Amino acid sequence: MKLSNKINLSTAVLVAFLLIVMNLSVYLTFSKLILDSELETAKKELEKTATDIGESLGSIPEGELLRSYVPINGMIEFVTTDNHRLSSVTSSTEQKLIERKINFFQAELSQFISYQNRTYTFVSMPIIMRDGSVANLQITKSIISATDNLKVLRLVLIVVTFLALIPVIISSRILSKLITMPVTSMINTMTEIRQSGRFKRLTLEEKSKDELFQMGETFNHMIDLLETNYEKQKMFVSNASHEFKTPLTIIESYASLLKRRGLADPELFSESIEAIHSEAIRMKEMTEQLLLLAKHHEQWNIQKVPINLEDFLNQTVKAFRNGFNREIHLEQENTVVRPITIETDEKKLKQLLFIFLDNARKYSDYIITVSFGVVDGDAYVKISDRGIGISNEELPKVFDRFYRVDKVRNRKKGGSGLGLSLAKEIADAIGARIQLESKEGVGTTAALFLKR
Ligand code: ATP
Ligand code: MG
Repeated sequence: MKLSNKINLSTAVLVAFLLIVMNLSVYLTFSKLILDSELETAKKELEKTATDIGESLGSIPEGELLRSYVPINGMIEFVTTDNHRLSSVTSSTEQKLIERKINFFQAELSQFISYQNRTYTFVSMPIIMRDGSVANLQITKSIISATDNLKVLRLVLIVVTFLALIPVIISSRILSKLITMPVTSMINTMTEIRQSGRFKRLTLEEKSKDELFQMGETFNHMIDLLETNYEKQKMFVSNASHEFKTPLTIIESYASLLKRRGLADPELFSESIEAIHSEAIRMKEMTEQLLLLAKHHEQWNIQKVPINLEDFLNQTVKAFRNGFNREIHLEQENTVVRPITIETDEKKLKQLLFIFLDNARKYSDYIITVSFGVVDGDAYVKISDRGIGISNEELPKVFDRFYRVDKVRNRKKGGSGLGLSLAKEIADAIGARIQLESKEGVGTTAALFLKR
């Protein structure tokens, strides 16, 4: 069943049920009140009539007497102890009551009786006759006007129930349309996406900021995310294949050169081997970085130990200085906290610092500064260079895999554009935060914030 039909049906059934319960209780209460009052009135009338008749019984004949007390729609009668009608008067409208079987009752009685599909109040009371015998004074009175009123009430309540259902059904239709419309358009968009393979968005009317609007917005946001990820992935695959193509082409061309005349020319032989070797190493490094990037953080086997930041940086900077023969300056910025101890994975942090130092080395020719200290309770390490810098537009992109600001310029330096994306992964894994600030032509500062 469709969602809109479900909403319609359930609303209509629920409201109809409530209306029926409500109207039924109104009807039952009202009819009980009316019938009770009818019986009560009949009883009181009988008592009054009995007193009056008792007073005049000797002086006026019974038939005459009864005639003056006969109800408009009913019958009044005297019944003897042996169930005989002593005397009776019937109103013109209820002549057939005379055929009804009669009974003598010892005690006072008031009840409803049904005779020939009509309802009557029946009241009976013992009375002493002129000759001293006991008889019953009985009054039977039709309650046709009360039952007619109840019939009207019943009809009104039934009609009201049906009339009230009409706006309910209309409003539930509108409501279900309101709810299902965005869902239907979402389904249509999804189907279109599935069939065309292109990312599409819902057109949202900015009338209200209700939940349905929010749902549409979330859907569009999700599609944005999917599209970005899809584009990134596509770019990653094309970049990765592109990156592997160059070293593979170099290896292939040197290998075929070797095949043709490698043995004859010893100089060419050593040059080819050298080139093949260095390209193979580059590819190996790239593969290792890619494998690390593809891993989940849980598989990284992070082992945190407390380390003295100053000692650690001294060691790292020294190793780098010797390895690349570059001038690197190390300084502590605020000396209030000393020594600065942090709990981290030493190997991963070293890898992280090497990535930043390697960039500073590659993209600048002057002195590199490594400063550290404590800010807002966290330890930080900043690696600053005075090199080519990165423009504002490029800055957010440098963390993407294989992204290099100027491919031609960097080609000489031999980078593959994986360093910073790896740095981001490592920082996430050890719970550090990276902040990269740069000005084109002035220099770059990479800051690393570490929990203490
Ligand atoms: P890899 O680090 O994988 O050998 P890479 O250095 O090119 O290659 P990343 O470290 O990810 O890759 O850096 C991405 C790009 O950001 C670099 O190609 C470079 O253009 C720019 N970049 C990074 N650090 C600096 C810096 N300190 N100064 C100027 N540009 C930088
Ligand atoms: Mg790099």
